Amino acid sequence: MPVPDRSSLSFADRTVDVAVVGAGIVGLAVARALSLRRPGLSIVVIDKESSISQHQTGRNSGVIHSGIYYAPGSLKARLCTQGAAALKQYCAERSIPTNICGKVIVATDASELPRLEELHRRAVANGAVGLELIGPNRLREIEPHAAGLRALHVRGTGIVDYGLVARGFADDVVAAGGEILLGYEV
Ligand SMILES: Cc1cc2nc3c(=O)[nH]c(=O)nc-3n(C[C@H](O)[C@H](O)[C@H](O)COP(=O)(O)OP(=O)(O)OC[C@H]3O[C@@H](n4cnc5c(N)ncnc54)[C@H](O)[C@@H]3O)c2cc1C
Repeated sequence: MPVPDRSSLSFADRTVDVAVVGAGIVGLAVARALSLRRPGLSIVVIDKESSISQHQTGRNSGVIHSGIYYAPGSLKARLCTQGAAALKQYCAERSIPTNICGKVIVATDASELPRLEELHRRAVANGAVGLELIGPNRLREIEPHAAGLRALHVRGTGIVDYGLVARGFADDVVAAGGEILLGYEV
């Protein structure tokens, strides 16, 4: 497709192999993966904002999900588990700070206990790491502000600034010869 020429703010007579619309984490990850798999492909990522990650990517909760909620064997479950490991590795290689602080999923009354046990079963089946079903005393030690009958402690869950991850992906795209064009609405 024609690519907008930044200098003239008009569509110049340029073409690229792949134009990705949206410089959020998905667009940047796709562009990065393509540039790694197909060196030499000309790639441009186009975004309407003046900087990357201005929407969901820069405004989310920052959780590195461990794959505990999805149906065992599903593509979502496998991708979430593999993706969490790949993300942690990427952050370590690029010195992007992560905090693997863990999380607790709490059953506050008896009616929630079967769902908690089902989540534990799914988490084990999905290969999530650092799982433990804990009681109220241990829960209070881990998180004094939480109270409940039972909880699933997921030690492997953490947080990251996805804006920094997206910045790393954008740098990788540019280092591979791609372009990030900002301020162009498609
Ligand atoms: C409140 C909230 C909390 C979340 N918490 C988490 C979490 O803790 N952990 C987690 O893994 N996920 C979380 N998510 C999900 C995660 O943030 C999204 O799945 C992810 O950011 C989506 O990335 P994206 O690139 O598809 O979208 P976006 O980051 O929204 O990027 C889309 C981009 O496309 C651009 N664009 C749109 N239309 C055009 C156009 N016509 N022309 C040019 N550019 C255009 C936009 O400007 C934008 O930059 C959360 C989501 C929300 C809403």
